[in-house]
Amino acid sequence: SVQPILKAALNNGASVARMVLPPEPSAEFQSDMPDRVGAGAASEMYAGLDEPLLEISRQHSHIILTNLRRGRSLNLPSGTPTPTSLIAVEMRHENRFYGTLWVGYDQQRSFDEEESRFVSMLASEGALAVANARLYTSAEVGRQRVEAILNSTPEPVLVTDRQGRLLLYNPAAMNVTGLAEKMVIGQPIETVISQPELNQLFTQTRETHASREITLANGKVYYAVVSSVVVENQAVGKVCILRDITHFKELDAMKSDFVSTVSHDLRSPLTLVRGYTTMLQMVGDLSEQQKTYVQKIMTGVENMTRLVNNLLDLGRIEAGVGLQVEKVQINDLMERVFSGLQMQASQKQIQISLEPPSEDHPVVEADPALLQQALTNLVENAVKYTPQGGQIHIRAVMKPQTVEFLVRDTGIGIAPIDQPRLFEKFYRAAQREAYSQRGTGLGLAIVKSIAERHGGKVWLDSQLGKGSNFHLEIPLISPPAKKA
Ligand code: ADP
Repeated sequence: SVQPILKAALNNGASVARMVLPPEPSAEFQSDMPDRVGAGAASEMYAGLDEPLLEISRQHSHIILTNLRRGRSLNLPSGTPTPTSLIAVEMRHENRFYGTLWVGYDQQRSFDEEESRFVSMLASEGALAVANARLYTSAEVGRQRVEAILNSTPEPVLVTDRQGRLLLYNPAAMNVTGLAEKMVIGQPIETVISQPELNQLFTQTRETHASREITLANGKVYYAVVSSVVVENQAVGKVCILRDITHFKELDAMKSDFVSTVSHDLRSPLTLVRGYTTMLQMVGDLSEQQKTYVQKIMTGVENMTRLVNNLLDLGRIEAGVGLQVEKVQINDLMERVFSGLQMQASQKQIQISLEPPSEDHPVVEADPALLQQALTNLVENAVKYTPQGGQIHIRAVMKPQTVEFLVRDTGIGIAPIDQPRLFEKFYRAAQREAYSQRGTGLGLAIVKSIAERHGGKVWLDSQLGKGSNFHLEIPLISPPAKKA
């Protein structure tokens, strides 16, 4: 668009018309757009005037020089060829300076108002053209940059628009077999993606972030995160990033296998040690010191047996074998848990109170042994982590779809920093009072596994020094058992 502007400027018998742009300040958007363009027979010859006129234009919107040969008005080095008269007009668009347009004549002449208005109009058209070109370049550079980032991202990325149609994807997404039959831009995402769980994540998520593990037909496991793309407080689409976690899943399975093999193999030698330790006192009199040593060995063996049993339980629950679902009477279950731990509690003068559901004969479909174990673990912890003379309250509340068990104690409580990690395997709170109790750090991991196997969940609220409240929620009707 610059050449026609320059041609129009030459129309009045001018020998030169030139457009001069200052260098682009940010290297980021540098394009190959020239910053000097000229037209007219003497254009190149008079190029030496570009810089001085550009500088003057920054301060003066219009400059008219009627006879250059007369004075040294531009402070040019001597010998610089100049036209006889000229007009230079700033190029400005939306208050931004884009350069100058100057027109020179080889005759001495004056410029009337109409002529200078005409040059001004051409200059503002020039400014508009430059502004558009720069805008285009910056948009294009931005687009190319996003494309380059996406292309070199090894993780598959999919983006949808506000209406849930596929907007863009990267080559990595294309290479995931079993993700989509064919990527078609503009198609609703649910018709593009063939993996139902990923589809659900895209279409049903209302939160800003949602994630889940998805397994593709070829056995690969991905961790998918879908996030809303928010621009000026408006959700304009969603972006999904998939992370291949197949390797970690395999490692995890190997680790679990290893742990369960080792714990299984440890069981027989432990039984042996326990057996012979018990027999020691039967085959001869032991001195007091020997009795103390034997007692220490027994304590050690019991701790190890507990750890091994916990590990085996956890392995079995996680592997998903043998979930024997039947109707469980909630009142009976609570009674069993209570009587199992009453001794332990009364040794510490801890009072346990029971509050079964108010309904008649409340039942839940669950594996009775596992559910009892989960509740026992919670109450056992409450006894362990509550000092002498404390209180424990076990309550069950029937809800429309679930039953919620609550175990409340007046114990040492749990620091906020420990709370999120408490259900991890082997995690134990760092407080001294907690650490002085024997434990493996597996009890709550087992509770969590049991809850999840039943389609339920476990959580807590607690205040350090005041006590803890553990909640275990189990659906009244269990989801169908998965077979390992
Ligand atoms: P363990 O009791 O064998 O250490 P758990 O998994 O049962 O393992 O519990 C993990 C940690 O959680 C415990 O070490 C303890 O620090 C903390 N904890 C669990 N229950 C309570 C409770 N009722 N009150 C205070 N701390 C608790």
